[in-house]
Amino acid sequence: MPEFFNVLPPDDAFESLRERLTARVQAEAVPVSEALGRVTACEIVSAEDLPSFPRSTMDGYSVRAADTFGATESLPAYLELAGEVPMGQPPAVSLRPGQAARAFTGGMLAEGADAVVMEENTQRAGETTLEALRPVAPGENVLQVGEDVRSGEVVLPSGHLVRPQDVGALTALGITQVQAARRPVVSIVSTGDELVAPGETPGPGRVRDVNSYTISALVEKHGGIPIPLPLVKDDYDAQRDAALRGIEQADVLVFSAGSSISSRDLTASVLDGLGSPGVIVHGVSLKPGKPTIVALVDGKPAFGLPGNPVSAMVVFDLLVRPTLCLLRGLDPPPRPAAVSARLTRDVASAAGREDHVQVRLDGVRGGVPTAHPVFGKSNLIYSLVRADGTVRIPPDRTGLYAGQDVEVRLF
Ligand code: AMP
Ligand code: MG
Repeated sequence: MPEFFNVLPPDDAFESLRERLTARVQAEAVPVSEALGRVTACEIVSAEDLPSFPRSTMDGYSVRAADTFGATESLPAYLELAGEVPMGQPPAVSLRPGQAARAFTGGMLAEGADAVVMEENTQRAGETTLEALRPVAPGENVLQVGEDVRSGEVVLPSGHLVRPQDVGALTALGITQVQAARRPVVSIVSTGDELVAPGETPGPGRVRDVNSYTISALVEKHGGIPIPLPLVKDDYDAQRDAALRGIEQADVLVFSAGSSISSRDLTASVLDGLGSPGVIVHGVSLKPGKPTIVALVDGKPAFGLPGNPVSAMVVFDLLVRPTLCLLRGLDPPPRPAAVSARLTRDVASAAGREDHVQVRLDGVRGGVPTAHPVFGKSNLIYSLVRADGTVRIPPDRTGLYAGQDVEVRLF
């Protein structure tokens, strides 16, 4: 029986790709309204102070702080109401000593005012007389010019993954377009004589193609543009044609299935023959996911993922996801979100390989979230659906015990 040569731990497999990767991040202009999930390709610098005018942080009255010094409930400061400053308008009121003007949250202060007394700390004593029941210090309840952002300040660094709050914050500065890394295009080729399209009823021995769809969704989720190509039979020439077409129109090529070492498995020879240097990793010390191929085709990464949908997803997470991160300027690739949980059952593992066990987060017991292993052969597609994430068992361990605290890497 043929053997894998030079089986690498998954992290080493990724490193050997990373050190050979020459592709540079390419930038493009993106409207801020479409920038969510994109990665900034340069620093973003504010050209303005924010706020651009002193703003009240409260509904109340703008005052000269000195006029309120020593005010108490029993001995209030009496102020003359000089008018109000409407929202969205500059003040028409200028305060003389001993005067106050109505102010609204986010609005401007009256000319000459340097603080705002909260509505709750005042009392009206007639048409035009106001009692301030507490003193305010200069600047109290006021956002100063530039307190949020100063003109010339770097508001987002290069390589920043844009979040919803970033989108709004950019628009507050009038920034409507950003330079973002181009989304990497990923061609996806599912191979296998047994595969049929999902709209078809599979005949005996046939199954519906799952991986084209899962991998496309994963690419999309991780900031790439998926291009699923038509299904390809286990035929060298057909696979080579698809691979050539795929790599030509994309930054990354992902092949599904046929990645092992039997005579039926063609992916390694197909990817090796596409360009230089060809296959750099064949086989990783990983379960599920041992039959994995990493290749470089004239600078473009190409992957041969195992056909088992569970294996394909685990390998995508460990190798393809971080590669997409690098191509979109997220360097180092961020670790997936994880939560701590307590394992509910023993899980065995062979020494010398890294195991990724699927778990379901099963509610909180005794104040601690629990992780319940979802056992299943790696062809059980719905085991992925029933799980919330994976737990990594390091290669030097032969298992994990019930009651042990583990880190669950969330899907
Ligand atoms: P292979 O990697 O070609 O040895 O395939 C391993 C297993 O994964 C086989 O049971 C295949 O039928 C299954 N498989 C391969 N490709 C797909 C796919 N695109 N969707 C669902 N199952 C697949
Ligand atoms: Mg196959």
